[in-house]
Amino acid sequence: MSGRKTIEPTHRYRNNDKAVGVGNAFWDLSERNGLAGIVAELDDGRPGVLHTEDGHEFTNFTCCSYLDLDSHPEVIEGAVAALRRFGVLDHCIPRSRVQIPALLELEASLGELFGSDVVAAISAGVASAGLLPLIASGHLGNGVRPLMVFDKNCHVSMAGAKPACADETEVVSCGHHDLTFLQDMCKRYERVAYVVDGSDSLGGYAPVRELAELQEKYGLLVYYDDSHSLSAYGERGIGYVRTHCPVLDERTITVATLNKAFGTSGAVILLDGYPKDALRVVERFAGALSYSQPMNTAAVGASLASAEIHRTEELTELQGRLRANIALFDSHIKTEQTGTTFPIRLVPMSDETVIEAGRRVYRAGFHVSPVFFPIVPRGTAGLRVMLRAGQTEEQIRGLCAALVEVGVPQAAPVSEQASVPEQTSVPEQASVSVEGAR
Ligand SMILES: *Cc1c(COP(=O)(O)O)cnc(C)c1O
Repeated sequence: MSGRKTIEPTHRYRNNDKAVGVGNAFWDLSERNGLAGIVAELDDGRPGVLHTEDGHEFTNFTCCSYLDLDSHPEVIEGAVAALRRFGVLDHCIPRSRVQIPALLELEASLGELFGSDVVAAISAGVASAGLLPLIASGHLGNGVRPLMVFDKNCHVSMAGAKPACADETEVVSCGHHDLTFLQDMCKRYERVAYVVDGSDSLGGYAPVRELAELQEKYGLLVYYDDSHSLSAYGERGIGYVRTHCPVLDERTITVATLNKAFGTSGAVILLDGYPKDALRVVERFAGALSYSQPMNTAAVGASLASAEIHRTEELTELQGRLRANIALFDSHIKTEQTGTTFPIRLVPMSDETVIEAGRRVYRAGFHVSPVFFPIVPRGTAGLRVMLRAGQTEEQIRGLCAALVEVGVPQAAPVSEQASVPEQTSVPEQASVSVEGAR
């Protein structure tokens, strides 16, 4: 015995023993079966097809670029043009001191597009890590320190901010979309802030209308991360939250990545009804927003070009193609998400069979991601499939045939299918979200 102290962690808000313990075994098993750690290049001629160095070809069904804007020629050109125009990739100084006009131009464009004030960030993860502690201390909000309620399924990029928030205020977690609990808290606390995904990474949407009632009645502040539905959903791609939430003022704050359906890189913070100084406080004090790099010039240029596409009929067409592809998949394979607008499907499997099924589907030329216990609760394992606008009918039919080949039951012909509600959601995720749902 050295007599020196060892440390007992409190693990009140995070637990790496559990996260790494649970998650690493999952990744190791996935990698041993060739389903993770893949290195592959895009095939020039055929969109969405990748090939590995040893010559295996596959169509990627695990990519969140739902509208394929990330490889759109105008988006690529936009990145190059902005680099030429501004003549610098990353002007290395906090924007609050000196900035080139690139970000301001982008914020103005996206503000007009989404009908809100916009602050850009380099990623949604960085935005949440910076914003949530400011909300916890009341500096972003109405000045009252709120009770911070984190939804138990909220994305790891938000859950990771709990310890920092807990140093500023009280932090609790609640059941998935537990409105009763929220209402109780609203009755007990002068101010409550609820942190939740607008669109879940395994399907399903936040109950924005019910939350709006609590916002109207009690002044509840809701912090949404709508990364999975920006661009893919709603007029001009404004996303699920801003399409359906009737409260668009100081009580609703939405962040969303530009890295998924928007097809570029970076993130937006969408704010309404905050004075200019509140936006300055965000730029100056929201963690890495104040001291680290902002979106670089190429990302800004690409985003300006993607925003232009959002203003045209082409966006509606791409959304339509995405919906048609989702419907085509649904006509072959039945899942809990069948009939919803959400681009992700979880094809149910048992924990024992899912890895082998994923391996065989991959060998057949389609990459889908297996999820299984312990990263999701027992009984909720499956192959996660992401549909995109650019996938061809042939690719989708091919995937469905490969799924049937590994034992997935074929959907009943359309006439026999029961009608399904618009918003179903899959069983809740385990609380340790180690899978980085992207
Ligand atoms: C993908 C995803 C993110 C990560 O976005 P970045 O901009 O890459 O940080 C954050 N939140 C949710 C809900 C996501 O699905």
